[in-house]
Amino acid sequence: MAGWTITDHVCRVCFGRVLHSEKQARCADCGVSGAQVKDVCACGVKLNSGGNAGLRCTKNLDVRPECPAEVVICYVGITEKPAKPDKAKHGGGGLFGEV
Ligand SMILES: [Zn+2]
Ligand SMILES: [Zn+2]
Repeated sequence: MAGWTITDHVCRVCFGRVLHSEKQARCADCGVSGAQVKDVCACGVKLNSGGNAGLRCTKNLDVRPECPAEVVICYVGITEKPAKPDKAKHGGGGLFGEV
């Protein structure tokens, strides 16, 4: 078992640090594993509908006693759904359409 590298990602199950090697990723704490880091960490968490849940692992820039973790999970919003094109604010000038 050589070559594990610690990542800046945390386990979606227990918030433990995720390690990865050439072939796979796994949680250092609970042992959840997957082919890639995002299969184990919070970044890859999917909604029931299949879209990304909008969670990202991020460095904790404000380490305090009540939040001592080095890496935390942030909610960044759901970004993977295709954006709907903005409809015109007004309905195409129906009032003055035809003379
Ligand atoms: Zn874990
Ligand atoms: Zn992550």
